[in-house]
Amino acid sequence: MAQTNVAKAKKTASASSGKTQWVYRFGAGKAEGRADMRNLLGGKGANLAEMSSLGLPVPPGFTITTEVCTYYYTNGQSYPAGLEQDVEAALATVEETVGARFGDDANPLLVSVRSGARVSMPGMMDTVLNLGLNDSTVEGLARHSGDARFAYDSYRRFIQMFGNVVLGVDHHHFEEILELEKEERGLSLDTELTPEALQKVIAAYKAKVQAETGKPFPQDPKAQLWAAIGAVFGSWQTQRAITYRRLHSIPEDWGTAVNVQAMVFGNMGEDCATGVAFTRNPSNGENAFYGEYLVNAQGEDVVAGIRTPQHLTVAGKKANRSSLPAMEEVMPKLFAELDQVRHKLEAHYRDMQDIEFTVQRGKLYMLQTRSGKRTAAAALKIAVDMVKEGVIDRDEAIRRIDPASLDQLLHPMLDPKAPRKVIARGLPASPGAAGGHAVFTADEAEDRASKGEKVILVRTETSPEDIHGMHAAVGILTTRGGMTSHAAVVARGMGRPCVSGAGDLRIDAHARTMKVRDVLVRDGDLITIDGGTGEVMLGEVPTIQPELSGDFATLMGWADALRKLKVRTNAETPLDARTARRFGAEGIGLCRTEHMFFDGNRIVAMREMILADDEAGRRKALARILPMQRADFVELFQIMKGLPVTIRLLDPPLHEFLPHTDAEMAEVAAAAGIELDTVRHRAAMMKEANPMLGHRGCRLGITFPEIYEMQARAIFEAAAQVKKESGETAEPEIMIPLVALPKELEVLKEMVDRVAAEVAKASGVATTYSVGTMIELPRAALLAGEIAKAAEFFSFGTNDLTQTTYGLSRDDAARFLQAYERKGLLPQDPFVTLDPQGVGELVRIASERGRKTRPNLKLGICGEHGGDPASIRFCAEVGLDYVSCSPYRVPIARLAAAQAALSGATTRDV
Ligand code: PEP
Ligand code: MG
Repeated sequence: MAQTNVAKAKKTASASSGKTQWVYRFGAGKAEGRADMRNLLGGKGANLAEMSSLGLPVPPGFTITTEVCTYYYTNGQSYPAGLEQDVEAALATVEETVGARFGDDANPLLVSVRSGARVSMPGMMDTVLNLGLNDSTVEGLARHSGDARFAYDSYRRFIQMFGNVVLGVDHHHFEEILELEKEERGLSLDTELTPEALQKVIAAYKAKVQAETGKPFPQDPKAQLWAAIGAVFGSWQTQRAITYRRLHSIPEDWGTAVNVQAMVFGNMGEDCATGVAFTRNPSNGENAFYGEYLVNAQGEDVVAGIRTPQHLTVAGKKANRSSLPAMEEVMPKLFAELDQVRHKLEAHYRDMQDIEFTVQRGKLYMLQTRSGKRTAAAALKIAVDMVKEGVIDRDEAIRRIDPASLDQLLHPMLDPKAPRKVIARGLPASPGAAGGHAVFTADEAEDRASKGEKVILVRTETSPEDIHGMHAAVGILTTRGGMTSHAAVVARGMGRPCVSGAGDLRIDAHARTMKVRDVLVRDGDLITIDGGTGEVMLGEVPTIQPELSGDFATLMGWADALRKLKVRTNAETPLDARTARRFGAEGIGLCRTEHMFFDGNRIVAMREMILADDEAGRRKALARILPMQRADFVELFQIMKGLPVTIRLLDPPLHEFLPHTDAEMAEVAAAAGIELDTVRHRAAMMKEANPMLGHRGCRLGITFPEIYEMQARAIFEAAAQVKKESGETAEPEIMIPLVALPKELEVLKEMVDRVAAEVAKASGVATTYSVGTMIELPRAALLAGEIAKAAEFFSFGTNDLTQTTYGLSRDDAARFLQAYERKGLLPQDPFVTLDPQGVGELVRIASERGRKTRPNLKLGICGEHGGDPASIRFCAEVGLDYVSCSPYRVPIARLAAAQAALSGATTRDV
C-alpha cells in the first residue's frame, strides 16, 4: 500500500533537516502540529495540537504520524529508525509537563493511547486508557491519589481494555469475572466493589490473560506502550476497518496516526466528571449547547451506554424530560468555563464542534474537538444560521452541505392521521420514520435486506461490528445508550432513522424476541420507529412526504443563484412530475413513454399492436392508444406550465411487452380477434436472445413508423389542446432514442415534421417544438458531428452508453461489480458514478463534435448519473446545459450543480 505516502515522507525528509519528523508534541499552551495537518497527524492529533496552541486546557501528549503507519506496512511491519528515540523524548516532555514519571512507583505518569485517522473511523482500535499501570505503579497511584479503590479500579479497567484490544482476549471473559465478584458479594454496581475485591478481580483478570494468551500480563510500561502503538497500526487492516473504508471510499494508503496523551481522570470522586458535547444541537441544528456527562466516570462510560448520561444544560434536561441534574446545576463554574470553550472553538473553527472533556478534581480538561456529525436538517440550519451570524459566507454554506445528505430531508415522516400503537419510547437519535421487519443481528439484517426486505435492526446497543447491518437496515433501534451512543452517531452519519435507549424494551438475544410489558415482538414481526420523536410502534405505520421550506428553501435559493447547470427531472406520471416541480425541477428531461404503455388496460392494446401481422392491424390498435397518450401529455404539459418537456418516443425492446402467461395470451387473442395459437406463435417469434441490443429504440420507429407517428400525433394534439383550453404554451422536445446512424434520425425527424404540420393544419395551432436524439451508443457519440445536422439537442443516455461502452449488462452487472470494487479494480460502480475516462470521454467528444456542427446545440444528460453529485460536476465541466434526474434527486442535483459552479467547473465553453 501507500507508495504515495512513502514518497511524500521521503520528500519531507530530504527537504528539511534531512530527518523526517515522526512525532509531534502538544500541551502546555503550545504544539508542533496544527489543525491543517490532519493528513499527517490524523484528525484527533491535529485538533489536539490546535487546541493546545489556542491555550485551551489540553493534557500534554504527542502524535505519531500517519507516515509511520505507512512505513510500518511497506516495511514488513517495522518502525522507521529513530522512532523509538523520538517517542522517548516526547514522553520525557510529557513527564516534565505533568510532573510525574512513566513507570515511577511513587507517582506514575499514566497515558491513553488512541488511533486517529484523517477522518473518524469506527472499526479502528479505539482507546487504551490508564496505560503505565502495573503491580507496583498501581500502589504508587493509590498512595498519590489517596484513593486505593480508584487506583485498583483503574488497573482493572486497564487490564480489561489492554487485554481486549491489544492482546485480543474476548471482553466477555473479563465481564464474567467482574459479574461473579459482584454476585458473590451481593453488589449491583462496579463502584461498590472494595479495594480488596478489586484486587481479587485484578488477579483473576491477569490469570485469564495468562490462560488465553499463554503469557503473563505485561508489567513493563514501555512494553505496554509499544504493544498498544502496534495494536493501533494493526487495527488499520482489520476486516471492520477495511469494510468501513470500502463503504466510505476512504483510501487504504491514508493510514492512521497514534495519539499518546497524559491521563486525566473523571472517576476520582464526586468532583470529577466526563462528558461529550456538541456546540450546537446535532439533531435539529439549534444554536444551543448540547451534550451529556457523568459524574465520577471515565469517558468510555458515556458513549458505551452503560450508565444513563445526564444533560449538560437545564434546557436539555427539560427537553428530554430527564430527572437527573444537569452539569449547569451541579458544577456551575465548570459549566461556564466549558461554555466559554464552546464559543472559542466555534469562533476558531467556524463550524459546529463535537467535543470531549473531563473534569479532574475540579479542573476542566479538553480531550478532543472535531467537526460534529449532524443530520441534514441540522447541517442546513447551522449553515444558514452561520451565514446570518456573519461567521461564514453563502458560498461556504453551500460547500458545507453534502448534496447526498439532502435525501434525509426528503424522507418520509409518519402520517399524522394514521393510527399507531406506541409500545415504547426512546431517544430521537436520528430523524426520519421507517417501518420494517425486526431483526436482532447485523448479519441477519444484511441477509434479509439483500433479499429486498425492509428491516429494522434491533440491538441492546451497537458496536462497530454492526456497521454492515446498520447500513442494510432502514432503521435502527437500541435499548441502551444516549444521543451520542455509537448507534446514534453512526445512524445520523448514514442518514438512517434511529431510536436509541428505549429502556423499557427487553431483548432476548437467544430467542430473538423483544418484550415490553405484555407485548412480544418476534424476529421478522413488523415494527415502525420514528427517529424524530423516539417512538417505537407495532406494525408498519404509513408515512407521508415532508414539506420543503425554511432553511432548506433558503439554501436552495442560494444554490440556484450560483449554479449554471439547469436541473430537470425524469418523469412520466403526473405524481412524479408534480413532486419534481415541488422540488424545483425546471422541466422534464426524459419522459419515458413506454411506462405509459404498461399501464392497466393499455398493455392489452399494446400487445395487440405488436402482435398484429400487418400495418393495418397495428394502426387499429394504435388508434385505441392515441387518445390515452394524448391525455397523458395534456396532463404533463399542464403541470409543467410551459417549461421544456422532453418526450422520448418508444424505446424498449418489443420483447418486453410480450404476454407471458396463457391468461395474458388469451386476453390478447380475444381483444384482437385472432386464434390463441397465432398469438403464441407470434410471441415465440418475437423473443430475443439479447433484447437490450435488439429491436428497440429508433429501430422500432424505422421498422414500425406508425408507432412513432401515433406518438408524435398525440404530442402535438396535446400541445394544441392545452393551448386552446388554458392558453399555456407547451414546447415539446421530441427525443429519438438509441440512434446509431445519422440517417435514422433524419428519416424520423422528417416524419415528426410532417405530423407536426398535419396537426397544425387540422387544429389551427402551430406548436413550437424541437427534435433531438439521445446519445446512448459509442457510434452515436463518435458521429455526433453528423448527427447534429438533424438534431437540435442531445441528451446523453448514460445508462445505455455505460452499458455499451463497457459491454456490461445493466441488468446483471451488479452481481459481480461489487467484487471488482472490493478488489480495487473499479473505484465505483460505473452505473452510479459516470466513468470520466471512458464513457465521459465519449460524452466530451460528442459534445465537442455536436457543437462544432451546431453551436447552439442543447446538451443534457438523462441517465441515472444526472442525479449523482460527482457525475454532475463532470457534466458542468464538459459544458452540458442541464442534468435530468428522478424527482427525489432534484434538490441534490441543484446543490451539486451549485458546488460544481463554486469549484470552477464551467458550462457552455466546450
Ligand atoms: C439511458 O440509457 O441512459 C436512458 C436514460 O434511457 P433508459 O434508461 O430508459 O434506457
Ligand atoms: Mg437508454
